[in-house]
Amino acid sequence: MDIKEVIKQGYCIGCGVCRAVDQNININLNSFGEYVAELNDSSLDKIVEASEVCPFAANHNETVLAEEIFSGQSQHESVGRYLGLFAGYSINDRNSGSSGGIITYIINELFENNEIDYAILVRPLVANNIRNIDFSFDVISSKLDVSSGSTSFYYPVTYSKVLEFIAKNPGNYAITGIPCFHKAIRLLKRQNPLYRDRIKYQLGLVCGQLKSALYFEYLLRRAEVPIGKVESACFRRKDTNNRADEYLFEAVTRDSNERQHIYRISNRKISLNWGMGLFKPKACDFCDDVFAETADIAVMDGWLPQYINDGKGTSLMVIRDKYLYDTMLNGKVSGKLHLHEIAIEEIVKSQQGGLNHRRKGLAYRLYLSEGRMVPSKRIKPSSNFPFLFKAEQILRLILRKTSRQAMALQTRVGSGLLVFNLIMIPFLFIYRVLQKFQRLLKATSF
Ligand SMILES: Cc1cc2nc3c(=O)[nH]c(=O)nc-3n(C[C@H](O)[C@H](O)[C@H](O)COP(=O)(O)OP(=O)(O)OC[C@H]3O[C@@H](n4cnc5c(N)ncnc54)[C@H](O)[C@@H]3O)c2cc1C
Ligand code: SF4
Ligand code: SF4
Repeated sequence: MDIKEVIKQGYCIGCGVCRAVDQNININLNSFGEYVAELNDSSLDKIVEASEVCPFAANHNETVLAEEIFSGQSQHESVGRYLGLFAGYSINDRNSGSSGGIITYIINELFENNEIDYAILVRPLVANNIRNIDFSFDVISSKLDVSSGSTSFYYPVTYSKVLEFIAKNPGNYAITGIPCFHKAIRLLKRQNPLYRDRIKYQLGLVCGQLKSALYFEYLLRRAEVPIGKVESACFRRKDTNNRADEYLFEAVTRDSNERQHIYRISNRKISLNWGMGLFKPKACDFCDDVFAETADIAVMDGWLPQYINDGKGTSLMVIRDKYLYDTMLNGKVSGKLHLHEIAIEEIVKSQQGGLNHRRKGLAYRLYLSEGRMVPSKRIKPSSNFPFLFKAEQILRLILRKTSRQAMALQTRVGSGLLVFNLIMIPFLFIYRVLQKFQRLLKATSF
């Protein structure tokens, strides 16, 4: 499968790494609020070359890439390679961070120790769209700007512009990203020594799924933010009086009298669980890398019983780079980090939902796609699952596809969520009934 086919079949995640190979390729938001590559008049040779860096084209899988970089380290079937496994938080950065503020801490330390000249992270920027706001990768060159990018952005992003910056500006870089984005960067480094020399640290976030820009619009409407400009927004404002997995979406607007209005809605009140896969790009249903296996570190939420009741947040970490490993240990000794080792089984347990979807669920989706073009995966197709499991997977496919169409229609017809709800309610009802039935069956089988 080359990038032409990746785009045609809907598997493009919009990472923009192919544009670093061929400037004829453009990365644009489509009508479903997803970044997608457009080939324009790319030559055949360039398509072949760009396909070598695409995370969904036929090239090298995560196991092969990780073997090239991290050989000799311990290996786990789901987690990939690892030097060290930790749980903890940064004393200074926990407040602004999504979970324990670990990525923010690491970028600060890399600047402090002159390991990097630039960091590439996501942060809110003023944009020329109806909401006047966008969340994009940006290049920073100072410690002062690191916390402006803290927290998780459940929003489509692309590397296309920042890779251009790297090409034009020599120096050492750290770059944040979700697993498929890191895979694309590793593939680019393999092909082009310029990126290999300049990108020193790949800082990974464990990823369950990405969301489209329509998800942001959905959240704004659920929080009753009027149509128009948004001054700032946060997908994960901490609610320290509650559990770590109970957080708020927050948006701030300013009226004509310069008065600020803050809108918040809790993720519990939204009552859509992430397993439903609403507003998710198709590529995420054909992804088998949960733990950013090609990144130098993978950080995730510590949503385990021993940490969940602390609403200030805890991160779990899979560390693969020796310098980052030492940075964490030094942080513990100096008192900047609260850190302890954690067992691999706990790391796996924390992502069990995501792993089920990307192992058994993926095997069934691959089975359903037999005869059609799909990205090649490390998981084999299988239909050897209980009926209810298969029904749940099929419903998730329907929910994903229908939600993006329903919200695209809703934004065309006007404000509110009436159209979206009318379309979605029957599917959501069936999904919830199915889940209740599954829970009941599980409870009675003991
Ligand atoms: C789309 C997405 C899905 C995720 N799914 C899961 C999951 O299923 N399970 C789980 O345990 N954790 C998941 N995470 C990771 C989790 O939300 C936290 O990001 C992680 O625990 C790190 O927290 P922290 O406090 O250490 O990082 P912070 O100190 O908050 O730093 C996070 C850094 O990542 C950058 N960043 C934020 N969003 C993006 C993005 N979309 N792309 C690239 N860089 C970004 C920020 O600019 C910041 O520099 C997901 C994150 C994202 C963005
Ligand atoms: S490299 Fe990224 S942007 Fe380009 S086609 Fe592949 S997924 Fe899409
Ligand atoms: S689920 Fe996989 S494909 Fe989707 S954004 Fe995350 S890493 Fe990329």
